Amino acid sequence: MKKHKLDNLIICKRCHTLHKKIKLHRNTKALCKHCGSVIYRNHHNIIETTLALSISAIIALMVAFSFTIMTININGIYQELNLTALFVVIFEQHFYLMGIMLGFLIFLFPLAILVSIILLLTLMHFRRSGYLVKRLLILTAKLLPWSMIDIFFISILVSMVKLFDYAQIEIGVAFVAFILLLVLDIIINKQMRFNELWRYYESIYGVKNEQS
Ligand SMILES: [Zn+2]
Repeated sequence: MKKHKLDNLIICKRCHTLHKKIKLHRNTKALCKHCGSVIYRNHHNIIETTLALSISAIIALMVAFSFTIMTININGIYQELNLTALFVVIFEQHFYLMGIMLGFLIFLFPLAILVSIILLLTLMHFRRSGYLVKRLLILTAKLLPWSMIDIFFISILVSMVKLFDYAQIEIGVAFVAFILLLVLDIIINKQMRFNELWRYYESIYGVKNEQS
């Protein structure tokens, strides 16, 4: 693929001013002349740091789904809430559609996103399989908006606030894992700047891999 002359230009996402791309020094960033927002940066080790964060996030996800989120005590009756049991209850009550949607939005999509990020960055780190990396970059960009784990966590918080009036609540391990997961998720989302990843992709695999 021949380099197009537009490839030397980059647009500011916020104010849509066009800028000419320049080579940045290590750990510096290019700011928009017009509105001052960050357009791109040269982040040293971004692949490795994001990879480490994603592996931590997948561990946090597993813990969040395997252990107790909270124990609710209403007049001496204890009820443990964990997500696997929640799915069993939803299916026992025949809310199949809701169960399937919830399963996809809070577990399968987040898991698929993390797995594809880990695979993608591992391959990029070892400079392997250009074609697969390209596919994974496209897949990850499409999957990212489908993780609704943050919205789900807010709904847990809202129900906790409601329960506080007439129940005692003890926070479990999965609750802490959820918070960790959300923090990691925000950082990973910030790190996964696709225009930069495509630039890395081009610099690692060159243009020869385009057809392979
Ligand atoms: Zn701007």
